[in-house]
Amino acid sequence: MTHILIAEDEPQIAAFVARGLETAGYRTTVLEDGGEALARATVGDADLLLLDVGLPGMDGFDVLTHLRARGSAMPVIMLTARTSTKDTVRGLDAGANDYIAKPFKFDELLARVRSRLREAAPAPDVTITQDDVVLDPISRRATVSGREVELSAREFALAEQFLRNPGVVLSRETLLSTVWGLDFDPGSNVVDVYVRYLRAKLGPEHIMTVRGAGYRWD
Ligand code: CA
Repeated sequence: MTHILIAEDEPQIAAFVARGLETAGYRTTVLEDGGEALARATVGDADLLLLDVGLPGMDGFDVLTHLRARGSAMPVIMLTARTSTKDTVRGLDAGANDYIAKPFKFDELLARVRSRLREAAPAPDVTITQDDVVLDPISRRATVSGREVELSAREFALAEQFLRNPGVVLSRETLLSTVWGLDFDPGSNVVDVYVRYLRAKLGPEHIMTVRGAGYRWD
């Protein structure tokens, strides 16, 4: 579960924010002291830090400066006073990813939290790999042992079904439905023909014929 640290010394604000974030499905930890916030953020098990500027012990700017100096790239949203542009600029200079001015509406805070978390998430690995075959559904490129092979749209779709279901027997009916969008068997051997094309392009050893059942990627 996504874990958010709330460094805020005003109990009412801290409780309000924690309650809202927990309702939205996040785990929260409230820290009322700057030093404590820095120590907790440095542990590295949290996903985002909401950081008030005015904290006892060590102020928000110092917490942030130390955190970045320790190499943490954790997203930090600073809670600043609405009247202080200086604080906002200082926070961003010190390495804050965003700021929100007090008093704020919870919905605005939540929107910023979501957006900073999204940016911080590593890009998903979209390529599909089985053995020496790699498919990239976005660029529609296919490689075998690092060498690019040309696949037609239908061949690519068929290959994708096999690579997403390794070891699973895929019947002709299933393949006709997922690759060709047909809910009936047109009585042709189109699947067999395309499997032959794929074997020629991806190598003969991957797609096994399972007699009477269909095909399986091994
Ligand atoms: Ca404060």
